[in-house]
Amino acid sequence: MKRKRPNILVTGTPGTGKTTMSTALAESTQFRHINVGDLVKDKNLHDGWDDQLHCFILNEDLVCDELEDVMEEGGNIVDHHGCDFFPERWFDCVVVLQTDNTVLYDRLSNRGYNETKLSNNVECEIFQVILEEAKESYPEDRVVALKSDTIEDMSRNITTLTDWVRNWHSA
Ligand code: ADP
Ligand code: MN
Repeated sequence: MKRKRPNILVTGTPGTGKTTMSTALAESTQFRHINVGDLVKDKNLHDGWDDQLHCFILNEDLVCDELEDVMEEGGNIVDHHGCDFFPERWFDCVVVLQTDNTVLYDRLSNRGYNETKLSNNVECEIFQVILEEAKESYPEDRVVALKSDTIEDMSRNITTLTDWVRNWHSA
Protein backbone atom coordinates (compact mmCIF):
# COMPACT_ATOMS: atom_id res chain seq x y z
CA MET A 1 0.00 0.00 0.00
CA LYS A 2 2.75 2.49 0.95
CA ARG A 3 4.64 3.81 -2.05
CA LYS A 4 8.41 3.67 -2.14
CA ARG A 5 8.79 6.87 -4.11
CA PRO A 6 6.84 10.12 -3.74
CA ASN A 7 4.41 11.71 -6.18
CA ILE A 8 4.79 15.39 -7.02
CA LEU A 9 2.10 17.63 -8.45
CA VAL A 10 3.40 20.58 -10.47
CA THR A 11 0.67 23.14 -10.89
CA GLY A 12 0.28 26.84 -11.68
CA THR A 13 -1.24 29.24 -14.21
CA PRO A 14 -0.59 28.33 -17.88
CA GLY A 15 2.81 29.69 -18.94
CA THR A 16 4.48 29.53 -15.51
CA GLY A 17 6.78 26.74 -16.74
CA LYS A 18 5.16 23.52 -15.49
CA THR A 19 5.95 21.40 -18.54
CA THR A 20 9.47 22.74 -19.00
CA MET A 21 10.35 22.16 -15.35
CA SER A 22 8.57 18.81 -15.08
CA THR A 23 10.45 17.49 -18.10
CA ALA A 24 13.81 18.44 -16.60
CA LEU A 25 12.82 17.15 -13.16
CA ALA A 26 11.73 13.83 -14.64
CA GLU A 27 15.15 13.53 -16.21
CA SER A 28 17.07 14.28 -13.02
CA THR A 29 14.91 12.00 -10.83
CA GLN A 30 14.06 9.28 -13.38
CA PHE A 31 10.41 9.84 -12.41
CA ARG A 32 7.51 9.58 -14.85
CA HIS A 33 6.26 12.90 -16.26
CA ILE A 34 2.50 12.92 -16.71
CA ASN A 35 1.22 15.90 -18.67
CA VAL A 36 -2.50 15.75 -17.89
CA GLY A 37 -3.51 17.84 -20.91
CA ASP A 38 -1.71 15.46 -23.28
CA LEU A 39 -3.12 12.42 -21.49
CA VAL A 40 -6.66 13.77 -21.83
CA LYS A 41 -6.13 14.27 -25.56
CA ASP A 42 -4.36 10.96 -26.21
CA LYS A 43 -6.77 8.79 -24.22
CA ASN A 44 -9.94 10.73 -24.91
CA LEU A 45 -10.58 11.49 -21.23
CA HIS A 46 -12.89 14.34 -22.08
CA ASP A 47 -16.48 15.27 -22.85
CA GLY A 48 -15.78 17.02 -26.12
CA TRP A 49 -14.32 20.33 -27.22
CA ASP A 50 -15.13 23.66 -25.58
CA ASP A 51 -15.57 26.10 -28.46
CA GLN A 52 -15.42 29.14 -26.23
CA LEU A 53 -12.31 28.23 -24.23
CA HIS A 54 -10.65 26.33 -27.12
CA CYS A 55 -9.79 23.30 -25.03
CA PHE A 56 -11.10 19.84 -24.24
CA ILE A 57 -13.65 19.54 -21.45
CA LEU A 58 -11.67 17.35 -19.08
CA ASN A 59 -13.60 14.49 -17.49
CA GLU A 60 -12.30 14.36 -13.91
CA ASP A 61 -13.54 10.84 -13.16
CA LEU A 62 -11.94 9.39 -16.30
CA VAL A 63 -8.64 11.13 -15.53
CA CYS A 64 -8.58 9.89 -11.93
CA ASP A 65 -9.46 6.31 -12.96
CA GLU A 66 -6.76 6.35 -15.61
CA LEU A 67 -4.08 7.48 -13.13
CA GLU A 68 -5.00 5.51 -10.00
CA ASP A 69 -2.65 2.53 -10.56
CA VAL A 70 0.47 4.49 -11.49
CA MET A 71 -0.11 6.92 -8.64
CA GLU A 72 -0.19 4.03 -6.22
CA GLU A 73 3.24 2.96 -7.50
CA GLY A 74 4.74 6.40 -6.85
CA GLY A 75 7.52 8.13 -8.76
CA ASN A 76 5.24 10.46 -10.71
CA ILE A 77 5.44 14.12 -11.64
CA VAL A 78 1.94 15.24 -12.56
CA ASP A 79 1.79 18.45 -14.61
CA HIS A 80 -1.54 20.28 -14.66
CA HIS A 81 -2.92 23.83 -14.35
CA GLY A 82 -5.62 22.75 -11.90
CA CYS A 83 -5.26 20.76 -8.73
CA ASP A 84 -8.61 20.50 -6.93
CA PHE A 85 -10.00 17.26 -8.37
CA PHE A 86 -7.16 14.83 -7.69
CA PRO A 87 -7.39 12.70 -4.53
CA GLU A 88 -5.44 14.43 -1.77
CA ARG A 89 -3.69 11.16 -0.85
CA TRP A 90 -1.93 10.98 -4.23
CA PHE A 91 0.59 13.74 -3.60
CA ASP A 92 3.47 14.10 -1.17
CA CYS A 93 4.39 17.51 -2.53
CA VAL A 94 2.34 20.10 -4.40
CA VAL A 95 4.47 22.65 -6.24
CA VAL A 96 2.79 25.87 -7.37
CA LEU A 97 4.91 27.74 -9.92
CA GLN A 98 4.54 31.51 -9.93
CA THR A 99 5.62 34.06 -12.51
CA ASP A 100 5.77 37.85 -12.49
CA ASN A 101 2.74 39.03 -14.46
CA THR A 102 4.62 41.07 -17.08
CA VAL A 103 6.90 38.07 -17.77
CA LEU A 104 3.86 35.80 -17.95
CA TYR A 105 2.07 38.18 -20.32
CA ASP A 106 4.99 37.99 -22.77
CA ARG A 107 5.18 34.19 -22.56
CA LEU A 108 1.48 33.80 -23.25
CA SER A 109 1.39 36.29 -26.10
CA ASN A 110 4.33 34.40 -27.66
CA ARG A 111 2.11 31.38 -27.41
CA GLY A 112 -0.48 33.21 -29.50
CA TYR A 113 -3.17 33.61 -26.84
CA ASN A 114 -5.89 36.12 -27.70
CA GLU A 115 -6.62 39.18 -25.50
CA THR A 116 -9.34 37.48 -23.47
CA LYS A 117 -7.29 34.39 -22.75
CA LEU A 118 -4.25 36.56 -21.98
CA SER A 119 -6.02 38.75 -19.46
CA ASN A 120 -7.86 35.81 -17.86
CA ASN A 121 -4.60 33.99 -17.24
CA VAL A 122 -2.64 37.03 -16.09
CA GLU A 123 -5.48 37.83 -13.68
CA CYS A 124 -5.45 34.22 -12.46
CA GLU A 125 -1.76 34.72 -11.65
CA ILE A 126 -2.19 38.14 -9.99
CA PHE A 127 -4.88 36.81 -7.68
CA GLN A 128 -2.89 33.64 -6.92
CA VAL A 129 -5.91 31.52 -7.82
CA ILE A 130 -3.96 28.27 -8.16
CA LEU A 131 -2.05 28.77 -4.90
CA GLU A 132 -5.36 29.30 -3.08
CA GLU A 133 -6.82 26.22 -4.79
CA ALA A 134 -3.79 24.16 -3.72
CA LYS A 135 -4.03 25.35 -0.11
CA GLU A 136 -7.70 24.48 -0.02
CA SER A 137 -7.16 21.04 -1.55
CA TYR A 138 -4.01 19.79 0.26
CA PRO A 139 -2.49 20.02 3.73
CA GLU A 140 -0.64 23.32 3.85
CA ASP A 141 2.70 21.74 4.76
CA ARG A 142 2.70 19.86 1.47
CA VAL A 143 2.16 22.96 -0.67
CA VAL A 144 5.17 24.95 -1.84
CA ALA A 145 5.11 28.09 -4.03
CA LEU A 146 8.20 28.50 -6.22
CA LYS A 147 9.14 31.51 -8.33
CA SER A 148 9.57 30.74 -12.04
CA ASP A 149 10.58 34.02 -13.75
CA THR A 150 14.00 33.09 -15.08
CA ILE A 151 16.07 30.11 -16.16
CA GLU A 152 18.06 30.53 -12.91
CA ASP A 153 14.81 30.17 -10.95
CA MET A 154 14.04 27.00 -12.84
CA SER A 155 17.51 25.49 -12.24
CA ARG A 156 17.25 26.27 -8.54
CA ASN A 157 13.77 24.74 -8.34
CA ILE A 158 14.96 21.56 -10.07
CA THR A 159 17.88 21.25 -7.63
CA THR A 160 15.62 21.84 -4.62
CA LEU A 161 13.06 19.28 -5.76
CA THR A 162 15.65 16.68 -6.79
CA ASP A 163 17.21 16.95 -3.31
CA TRP A 164 13.77 16.67 -1.75
CA VAL A 165 13.09 13.47 -3.73
CA ARG A 166 16.44 11.96 -2.67
CA ASN A 167 15.68 12.62 0.98
CA TRP A 168 12.10 11.46 0.90
CA HIS A 169 11.05 8.50 3.04
CA SER A 170 7.50 7.26 3.23
CA ALA A 171 5.95 8.11 6.58
P1 ADP B 1 3.26 25.66 -18.73
O1 ADP B 1 3.48 24.20 -18.95
O2 ADP B 1 3.14 26.02 -17.28
O3 ADP B 1 2.13 26.23 -19.53
P2 ADP B 1 5.73 25.94 -20.24
O4 ADP B 1 6.66 25.00 -19.55
O5 ADP B 1 5.11 25.49 -21.51
O6 ADP B 1 4.59 26.43 -19.22
O7 ADP B 1 6.53 27.30 -20.44
C1 ADP B 1 6.00 28.39 -21.16
C2 ADP B 1 7.13 29.16 -21.84
O8 ADP B 1 7.93 29.81 -20.86
C3 ADP B 1 8.08 28.28 -22.63
O9 ADP B 1 8.46 28.98 -23.79
C4 ADP B 1 9.27 28.09 -21.71
O10 ADP B 1 10.46 27.90 -22.41
C5 ADP B 1 9.29 29.38 -20.92
N1 ADP B 1 9.71 29.20 -19.52
C6 ADP B 1 9.18 28.33 -18.64
N2 ADP B 1 9.75 28.45 -17.43
C7 ADP B 1 10.67 29.43 -17.55
C8 ADP B 1 11.59 30.04 -16.64
N3 ADP B 1 11.68 29.65 -15.34
N4 ADP B 1 12.38 31.03 -17.09
C9 ADP B 1 12.30 31.42 -18.38
N5 ADP B 1 11.45 30.90 -19.29
C10 ADP B 1 10.65 29.91 -18.89
MN1 MN C 1 2.22 22.78 -20.06
